This record gives sequence, structure tokens and C-alpha cells, in this order.
Amino acid sequence: MSKHNGNCTTCVRSGNCQLQNLCIDFSLDTDLYERYHDPEKKLEWKEGYPLIRDNDKCIKCMRCIQICDKVQTMHIWDTIGTGKHTRVGTFDGRSIHHTDCTLCGQCITHCPVGALRARDDTDRVIDAISDPDIITVFQIAPAIRTAWGKPFGLDEKTATVNRLAGCLKQMGADYVFDTSFTADLTIMEEANEFLVRLQKGDLEKYPMFTSCCPGWIRFIKKQFPTLVPQLSSAKSPQQMFGAVMKTYFAEKIGVDPEKIFTVSIMPCVAKKAECDMNSMKGATGKNDVDVVLTTREVTRILKKEHIPADRVKDAPFDKLMAEYSGAGVIFGTTGGVMEAALRTAYFKVMGENPPADLFKEVNGFEGHGKYPWTEKEFELKGTKLKIAVVNSLGHARAVCDAILREEVKYDFVEVMACPGGCSGGGGQPINTEDEERAFTRGLYLHELDKEMPLRFSHENKDVQKLYEDYLKEPLSEKSEELLHVKHTLEFTD
Ligand code: SF4
Ligand code: SF4
Ligand code: SF4
Repeated sequence: MSKHNGNCTTCVRSGNCQLQNLCIDFSLDTDLYERYHDPEKKLEWKEGYPLIRDNDKCIKCMRCIQICDKVQTMHIWDTIGTGKHTRVGTFDGRSIHHTDCTLCGQCITHCPVGALRARDDTDRVIDAISDPDIITVFQIAPAIRTAWGKPFGLDEKTATVNRLAGCLKQMGADYVFDTSFTADLTIMEEANEFLVRLQKGDLEKYPMFTSCCPGWIRFIKKQFPTLVPQLSSAKSPQQMFGAVMKTYFAEKIGVDPEKIFTVSIMPCVAKKAECDMNSMKGATGKNDVDVVLTTREVTRILKKEHIPADRVKDAPFDKLMAEYSGAGVIFGTTGGVMEAALRTAYFKVMGENPPADLFKEVNGFEGHGKYPWTEKEFELKGTKLKIAVVNSLGHARAVCDAILREEVKYDFVEVMACPGGCSGGGGQPINTEDEERAFTRGLYLHELDKEMPLRFSHENKDVQKLYEDYLKEPLSEKSEELLHVKHTLEFTD
């Protein structure tokens, strides 16, 4: 406590802080900081950066260094100084925006106090909702349904995604959708792209990599630039949503896209940077996704706005993009994108649906054979497909190294930067019990998939209508323009 500024009333971790819990347990007097702290030079931080460090709260437990070094292998943090002046900062004292930080947010979720946090964008959303001239459109990522209700005392069965939609509507949202809809759209584009690239012989040496995780995109750009051309050109479901929202949807409801303000609710910190990338802007040069709120921020905004989440009733998603499949739901966990893509690729090649659970073994929960990732082989009409699924950046580094050494050869690889995938994302609620919840949350998404009447992305009627009325077909000129990007090596592009 002598090192920790205990201004708990304004701290984002108040009520969810291991140090605060210990102070209560030991009846500790919390003015120790005032009495003993030794003022150090204030750490300079880039304003507006999605990840924020406050060294006035850092208790030097070194967990951020451990998770970033040992699990994510990024070495962004380091100790600076010696003896009683030792503190934690960026490696080599670089400005955070000059490091290769992937914004996976794992150091935030492993920090026991509020020394690391994500940028708070809740006020921007409240301002948009309060403006009568602005139409606010929300999308909720698949992994949110595994975690958002915990701070309200709701388990995942009662904290349904439709209850969250009800809360957002009560808060004043004009339209609410599930990102699982554009997860289905992503599959239509990505599965078709995969088959085209496979037939063209593009994947003979190196595989195609999934592109829906911005933490992974930041990682590959800086750590394995030679593999960047192997990334799928498909935008992430969040960005596809923003793009169709400000074109197709605006046209259908007859409003000027400039009046639409899109908010994503994501389990992710890297998405806050993804929506600001130049390639993610619409024809007018403005963001397709205006603001990203993490799962933690959605708790904060509902509390700020006094929405009684435990008493709010489920609300349906809005028309035009209401439908989604179980394949879209499992995007929120490791292996989900691959499984969903294989279901649709099978249909495309064989002309009929596979048994819905044919590819269930591709989930990334296994990965404990020879390698710390999952690998499987399938046959589609005489063509052998070898795929791999990997989660966490340390394992992503291992698979990329093995591919470049030509020790392994795959056709398609799914990568998610966070351990367990988005269900363990850096924007998810932080638990102070030191218990890893990503995999149980992931299993819950698989349960939901099994209960869905619709299991295949290509059977999503609203996605079919979007193609019929607007995009024409996967990989059409319009689809390429709105839903695909050309990857560069820059974080900002
Ligand atoms: S966000 Fe991820 S890559 Fe960046 S410092 Fe934290 S753990 Fe390391
Ligand atoms: S995890 Fe948090 S408290 Fe621990 S050293 Fe890192 S910033 Fe400081
Ligand atoms: S795994 Fe999910 S939560 Fe983590 S960085 Fe990637 S998209 Fe974000």
C-alpha cells in the first residue's frame, strides 16, 4: 500500500481488486501511500492509447511481465532501475506506441490492481445516445454472452445476449444486433476465399491464416512479416458489421450514414485500435465502427445509466440482421472460426451439409499432442486438408516458426491471440480468484451452438438476403470493396 495510490472511489478496479480485498482482510489502514510513498517521476503515456498504465497504482508484482513474456512472448514490459527505485515500465523505456504491443490486453486481466486498464470510451457512447439527431446501432460479439452478467450476479444461463440487448434498448440504443450475424457473413467470404486460394495453388508452401483477431494481425505484422500475404483478406466480423451498417442498412432504413453511430461490444482491447485503422474506414473516410466498448465497459455503462440488468427482460434483435447461426456463435472461442468455415467449405464442395458436429475436434482445447496447438486432417472430395488451430501468441509464434522451418505443413490455420480465444479476451471481466475461465466459457458457446436451430452460416436467411439485395455473391466486386482489406505491415493500415 505504500506504493499504491488508494484513490479507490475513482478506480475502475474498485470492488474487483486483490489489494483492496487484502486490505479488508487485514483491516489495513489505507493511508500508507500518503505516509510512505516516495514520489517517482511520473510515467509519460500516449494520450488516447487503448492500453493505459498508471505506475502510481503498480505494486510491482511483475504479473504483467510474466504473462507478456511467458505466455504471449512479446516482452513489452520490463523492470527499470534497481533497489527501492525498481519499477515496471516498457522494455528499453520505449513509448508504448513504439513497441510491438499487440493490445491483446492479457496484462490488464492479469494485473491484480488498477495499474493497467483499457481506455474508457463509455462517455462517448452516452453522448451519442443523448443526441436526438444520432441513430445509435449496437453490435454484441459472440463471447460477451459468456461473461457480461457476472458483475450483476447473473450466470451465463440468465445473462443471455437478448437480455443485454434489452438493457441496451432501455439505455436508449436505437438498434441492437448480434455480431454472430457478421460472423456468418465472414464465413461466407472466408470459406470461399480459402477454396479459391487452395485451387489456385496459393497455399502450396504456406497456409491461409484467419484474420478476425486484431491482436494476431498486429502480431504477424511485426513478428512474421513474410507471412502477412497468407492472411485472409476478409475483415473481422466487427468491421464487416460496421461496413454493412453504414451502407446496406442505412440504405434500407433510408437514413444518411453520417447520422449512424456504431458501437461494438467486444471482449477485446485490440478492437479499439482495429476500428481506427485506415483500411476500416468507409467511403467518406470516417470509421465504420465508431466506438468499441469492452465487456468491462458495458458493465460500467449499464451501472452509470442505472439499468437494473437483473430485472430487464430479453429483447429480440432488430430486423434485417436478426438471424445468426450456431457457427457464428462459436467464433467466440478457440477453433470456432475454423469449425464454422469447414462446415460451409464442406457444403460448397460436396453440395450437401455435413453432420453439424463433423468438425468438432478442431476446437483448440486439445493441442497437447506433439505441439501446443491442434492439428487435424480431413478429406473433401479426394482433396486432403490439413488444418491447425492455435490460441495465445506464444503458441502462435511456435506454429509460425514450425511453418517457416517447414517442419509442419498446413492448408488453413486459425489463430486467436488470447488464451482460449475471445472468451478469454483482454476485455472480459477480471476475476480476482485467480481462476482461468476462458475454456469453460468456450465450452458454453459450444453448448449454445448445439441448441441452435441453425448450425450453418450459409443457411442464414438474413445473410442470404444481404447477398441477394446488395452484395450479389461472396467475393463479388461489392463484397471485395466492403468486406475485404489489403494487409500492409503498418499497425495503422
Ligand atoms: S497488451 Fe498483450 S502484448 Fe501488449 S503489453 Fe499487454 S500482454 Fe503484452
Ligand atoms: S501486473 Fe499490475 S501491479 Fe503487477 S507489476 Fe504489472 S502493472 Fe504493476
Ligand atoms: S482473441 Fe479475441 S479478444 Fe483476444 S485479441 Fe483476438 S479478437 Fe481480441
